[in-house]
Amino acid sequence: MNGTVVMKFGGTSVADAERLKRAAQRIVAKREAGNRVVAVLSARGKTTDFLIAEAQEISPQPDPRELDMLLSTGERQSCALCAMAINDLGHRAISLTGSQAGIVTDTSHTKARILDVRADRIRHALEEDSIVLVAGFQGVSTTKDITTLGRGGSDTTAVALAAAIEADVCEIYTDVAGVFSADPRVVPEARKLPVVSFEEMLEMSASGAGVLQLRSVEYARNHGVRIHCRSSFEDAPGTVIVGEEETVERPLITAVTHSTEEARVTLKGVPDTPGIAGRIATALAEANVNIDMIIQNEPVSEGAAAHMSFTVPRSDLVDARAALAAMCEEFAIELATDEAMGKVSVIGAGMKSHPGVAAKVFTTLGEEAINIEMIATSPIKISCVISGAQVPDAVRALHAAFELAGPGTIRPERPFGEFV
Ligand code: ADP
Ligand code: ASP
Ligand code: MG
Repeated sequence: MNGTVVMKFGGTSVADAERLKRAAQRIVAKREAGNRVVAVLSARGKTTDFLIAEAQEISPQPDPRELDMLLSTGERQSCALCAMAINDLGHRAISLTGSQAGIVTDTSHTKARILDVRADRIRHALEEDSIVLVAGFQGVSTTKDITTLGRGGSDTTAVALAAAIEADVCEIYTDVAGVFSADPRVVPEARKLPVVSFEEMLEMSASGAGVLQLRSVEYARNHGVRIHCRSSFEDAPGTVIVGEEETVERPLITAVTHSTEEARVTLKGVPDTPGIAGRIATALAEANVNIDMIIQNEPVSEGAAAHMSFTVPRSDLVDARAALAAMCEEFAIELATDEAMGKVSVIGAGMKSHPGVAAKVFTTLGEEAINIEMIATSPIKISCVISGAQVPDAVRALHAAFELAGPGTIRPERPFGEFV
């Protein structure tokens, strides 16, 4: 017997009967090569989007507990169907919900965090020579309710299971051939990156590269899980996420990432009282809203009111408004929002030791007549908030300016006309 492998298939990779059967064949091939296999599946195609739309047709702000109950069904369908396909191929397979697989989470519905993985049942099934299929994106909370892990959460299910059963590798099968120097749907000449360090991948996922959910990368780094992100449609190797010490070359810039899912909140007339910024941030944190960039304008004179702006994921805007309503009322703060913001970022471990990257980013965007609204930096990232409509042009211009397209370019298999 070789090792244990976790294989995760995303929504596009199981979208129709033919693709689901192809995933089943790949799982079986891995088993026949002598591995124990746990496969994590996502909901088919756009099922999760349809379920959310269905809920909103019934209730504009669906009860989060019930929404999770509904959303968890998408991944269950995929697993049950795939188990049928594998059984027909002459192998034994069982499908498990996240709860049956022992994924225990906190109680934050729709973006729960995994607290523990009690993988006894999986281990037992593997010992009995079964292939185990686990419904991604879901768990059971400490209060025994069904939870989901946030969009893209099946990646985190896969990594958490790989850590719990000490798998040799967590393979993330998706609709592109790996992690690229930019989203290949926006930049067709983007280059496939054979390896990416955890440090860079964390920044990439955090700034919009949805190919791996941010939490899956955090979890993998904390638990020493090897991630191999690769195509579900072809056999070539994809991208391996490795520790910093394993990276050989350190280019100045590794990738350009983007997001069109940003909203900006501006609070006008924030009183110049000590502790008020803390109260605002605490109210948002208690509502589970992640603040990204923050800018506070100095009050014009001592004691005068200031303006504060910050960005949040657009999907959190309703929660952000609700969290701040009482404080806005108490201090007569005016709350304005801009829902059509985007963000473009350049990431590269090499920029730590090279000045001039920011200058090049700002100049490039300037030449495209793109106005920068907010800026944030880390030692290996520069992010600019810009208008959402200008994001594709900004990504393409930065990718060209830093010469990221290379001879190793591998084009993705599916047409990219869908994007913007
Ligand atoms: P899955 O359903 O398999 O989980 P996702 O849609 O979540 O797939 O993630 C894959 C998508 O991520 C790709 O189709 C691609 O458009 C997008 N993506 C964004 N940034 C990148 C990047 N830097 N490299 C590769 N893919 C990226
Ligand atoms: N089905 C979920 C989503 O669409 C989880 C996942 O695909 O990872 O976000
Ligand atoms: Mg995904």
